[in-house]
Amino acid sequence: MSAPKHSCGEPMPDSFYRRIVDNDGFGILVTDLAGNIVYANPHLCASTGYALEELIGQNRRIFQSPQTSEATFREMWDTVLAGRTWHGELFNRHKNGELIFARITITTLTEANGEASHYLAVIEELEAPLAFTKVAGSHPASPDNLTGLPNRSSLIANLDELLSTSHASGTGFALLCLDLDRFHAINQKLGSIAADQLLLEIARRISAAVRGNDMVARIGADEFVMVLNGMLDKNACDDMAARVLEQITQPVTIDGHTVEVTGSIGIARYPLDAGNADDLLGAASLAQGAAHSEGGNRYHFFDPELEAKVNAHQDVSNHLRHAIERGELRLHFQPQLSLASGQVVGVEALVRWQHATKGLIPPNAFIPIAEETGLIIAVGEWVLREACHRAKEWQDAGLPRIRMAINLSARHFHFSNLPETVAGILAETSFEAKFLELELTESSLMRDPGKAIRIFDQLKSMGVHISLDDFGTGYSSLAYLSRFAIDRLKIDQSFVRDITTNPVNASIATATIAMAHKLGKVVVAEGVETEAQMNFLRRHDCDEMQGYLFSRPVPADELQQMLKDGRHLDFGEEPVSEPQNTLLLVDDEQYILHSLKRLLRREGYRILTAGGGVEALELLALEPVQVIVSDQRMPGMSGAEFLSKAKELYPETVRISLSGYSDISTVTDAINKGAIWKYITKPWDDEALVQEIRTAFRLAHQRE
Ligand code: C2E
Ligand code: MG
Ligand code: MG
Repeated sequence: MSAPKHSCGEPMPDSFYRRIVDNDGFGILVTDLAGNIVYANPHLCASTGYALEELIGQNRRIFQSPQTSEATFREMWDTVLAGRTWHGELFNRHKNGELIFARITITTLTEANGEASHYLAVIEELEAPLAFTKVAGSHPASPDNLTGLPNRSSLIANLDELLSTSHASGTGFALLCLDLDRFHAINQKLGSIAADQLLLEIARRISAAVRGNDMVARIGADEFVMVLNGMLDKNACDDMAARVLEQITQPVTIDGHTVEVTGSIGIARYPLDAGNADDLLGAASLAQGAAHSEGGNRYHFFDPELEAKVNAHQDVSNHLRHAIERGELRLHFQPQLSLASGQVVGVEALVRWQHATKGLIPPNAFIPIAEETGLIIAVGEWVLREACHRAKEWQDAGLPRIRMAINLSARHFHFSNLPETVAGILAETSFEAKFLELELTESSLMRDPGKAIRIFDQLKSMGVHISLDDFGTGYSSLAYLSRFAIDRLKIDQSFVRDITTNPVNASIATATIAMAHKLGKVVVAEGVETEAQMNFLRRHDCDEMQGYLFSRPVPADELQQMLKDGRHLDFGEEPVSEPQNTLLLVDDEQYILHSLKRLLRREGYRILTAGGGVEALELLALEPVQVIVSDQRMPGMSGAEFLSKAKELYPETVRISLSGYSDISTVTDAINKGAIWKYITKPWDDEALVQEIRTAFRLAHQRE
C-alpha cells in the first residue's frame, strides 16, 4: 500500500493512521488478493473473539457463515472484481460459532500503478433481522446456530404467550409444521455442509413466505414451524401452506449443483384442534405425518380421526413384531391356470395374519406398515421359507410339480442381500430354484434400476423366475419390460375387471398381451372373476389366469387337495367354436326380443338375446357374433353407447340400431362415428328387416 498523504501533500506518519484504524468503532479487515488476512483491527478481534495472532495468515473464510446466500457472495465479488466498492449485509461467524449480522463495505486497495494489491473490509455490526433472531444461551451445535431461528423451547415459550393473549382476546391462530421429504437421503448425498446451506435457504424462503408478524422456528434438523397469527380461516391456511410448499420446491443451487426438495406440512389451529402448545404441536405433527405418508409434497389439516388411525397403525406395528415369533402368519395359495389346457400350472402365496382377537387380517392391512417399519424383511423371509417348504412337500407327495410364486416388497428387494437369502432358503428346503417365482412391481425396479439389474442377474443365474406384478397400475413402461429379464407379466385386476365392457381397458390389455409376447414374456391375467373375462382373454391369446372364477386363495391343505383331485377348467373340444351365423338381439322389452326371434327363426341363425348393454357385452366376450341388432332406449347403457363399445371391442361385427323416430337425434353421433351400420325405425317392416339382416351377414363374412 502506498503511504497516504494529508491535504497539504505531506505524508502523515504511519502511526497516525494506525491509531485511527486501531481505535475505530468499526471492524477493519485487510486481506491480500488470495483472501489471507494481513491486518485486523482490535475492534474486529474483540467482536469475533479471535486474537490478532490467530487471524494473521488465516483466510478470511474463517468468518464466513453459510447463512449468507451464494447469490450475495456472487454479487459481492462481481462488484469488487469490477473495481467498485460493495456495500451489503451478511452473516459472519464468531469464534464460538455464533452469528454476527453485519453491514460490510469492501473495496480494493491499489498500488501506485493502479494494480490491485489488497482488499479492505469495514464491518459494522447490526441487530440480526427478525427471522434470524438468535436464541440466547443456545448450544453452538443446536439448530438455532445454523439458521438463527428460534428453537423448540423458545417456540414453546412464545406459543404459551400467544395462547394466553389469544385466549384473552378470543382470537385464534394456525400452526404449520413442515418437514422436508427425504432430507436424510439429501443430507447423505450432499454432505452436511451443503445440507446446512440448503436448510438455510429453506429457512430464508419460509421466513419470506410468511407475513411480518408471523413466527418461524426450527425445531429439528429439517423441521420448521410457522405460527400464523390470527389466521384461523381454512382457505387462508390453504393458501399459506401452498405458498410455502411452492417456495421450497423451487430448485436451490449449492456449490454449482441444483438441488430440489419437497416438504410435507401439517396444520393445526388454536383453539379448534388443541388448547396448549404441546398438544397443538402434536396435532400439527400428526397431520404432517399424514401428509408425508400420502407421498409428501402436500399439506394436511389435523383431524381427530388421524389420531385413531395413527394409534391403529402403532398397534399393528407393535404386535406384528411378535406375530412372526408367535407363528401368527399364515400363507394362502391361489392357483394359476393355463388358458390353453385349463390345468393348474402354479400358485401364488399370499400372506395373512391370524390375529388372536381380530381374526384373519388381510395383507393390505399390515404389509404397508411392515414396509414402513422394516419388518417386511422378516415377513418376506418367513413367506419365502414357508412357501418353498410347502411346495417341496407337495412335490414330495407326488403332486404335479407346479410353480410357487411369492410377492416381494421393494424394500426387501433392495435392502437386503436377497440373492443370498433366496439361495440359503432354497438349499435349506431342498426346493429347486426353477420352480420359484418372485413377483415384483415396477416401482421396485424404478428405485435403483442399476442395482435392480444386478440383483436380477444374480437371481436369474440361480434359475429363479421373476414376474412383474400389477402391470398397468404403475408406469407400465415398455423400456422396463425389455430391459429386465422378466419371465412373466401379470396384468392387473383393475384392467381385467371391466375388460368386457370398457374398450379402453380392453385395448390396453390386448395390446399388453401382444407386446409382451413380442418380447418373449408369458402373460398372466389377475382377478379373473367371470367366464366372459376368461373367454375374452383366451381369445386374445393370454397365457394364464388367476382369479376367483377358478378359486380364491385357500389354505395349504385345501390347495393340496385341489392338486390331488386334479381340479382344472374344461375348455371342451374347441374352446371358442365359431358357428356360422350368430345374431345378437338386444332390447330391454322381452316381447320385442320374442317377436324378433319368431320373425327370424326360419333364417337358421344362432340367436342370442340380451336385456341390456352390459349383458350384451358379456355375451360378446363369450361368443363370436357377426351381427348385432340393438334397441336404442334402454335403462342404464343406451343402445348407441353399447354399439359404440361393441364397435371398439369387436370392430368386425355389423351393427344395426332399432329405434323409434324420436330417437334419431341421440343415435346420429354413433352413426357418424361408424358405430352403427344401419338405422331401422320401430315399428319395423318385417320383410325389410329380414333383408337387412341377411345383407348384414353377407357383409360380416366379407369382413372375416
Ligand atoms: P397381489 O400380489 O396383486 O395379489 C393378488 C390379490 O388379488 C390377492 O389379494 C388376491 O386375493 C386378490 N385376488 C385374486 N383373485 C381375485 C379376484 O378374482 N377378484 C378380486 N377382487 N381379487 C382377487 P390379497 O391376498 O389380499 O393380497 C393383496 C396384496 O398384498 C397382494 O397383491 C400383494 O401385493 C400383497 N401381498 C400379499 N402377500 C404378500 C407377501 O407375502 N409379501 C408381500 N410383500 N406382499 C404381499
Ligand atoms: Mg402378486
Ligand atoms: Mg397383482
